[in-house]
Amino acid sequence: MKAFDYDAVTYDCAVYCVGCLPAGVNVNSDEVHPVFADSEWDTAPVCDACGEVHDYVTLLGKVEYRAWSIVEGAIDEDETFDDAATRDAYAATLAATIRSEGCKDWQVYVANVTAGCAVGEWAGEESICQYSSEG
Ligand SMILES: [Zn+2]
Repeated sequence: MKAFDYDAVTYDCAVYCVGCLPAGVNVNSDEVHPVFADSEWDTAPVCDACGEVHDYVTLLGKVEYRAWSIVEGAIDEDETFDDAATRDAYAATLAATIRSEGCKDWQVYVANVTAGCAVGEWAGEESICQYSSEG
């Protein structure tokens, strides 16, 4: 996308896709402002009407540190932290707890996740399995 392209707009303190504006409002209305591709956001703007995540904007790269466990194929715990040290301490404690419960099939993952990713995606940085039942 070019700097002045846009798929989303702001209107009445909310974000909308161009096609999701309330009836009677369009991109030429007074209170509607384009969200340009080169605008900077901490997290990607989300359409108030349909929930689409507009990640074409410039995200400021705030990093969240995340740890989660998968026990027998399903996500068990999933936590977010402000720094890597706290996350790693949590991951170690979590692994020790799962191990003490005698589970046979589990992993604890850690990752740095760039803010603005859609929930459930680990985009940003690759995840690393730090502990597992095989380790
Ligand atoms: Zn929408």
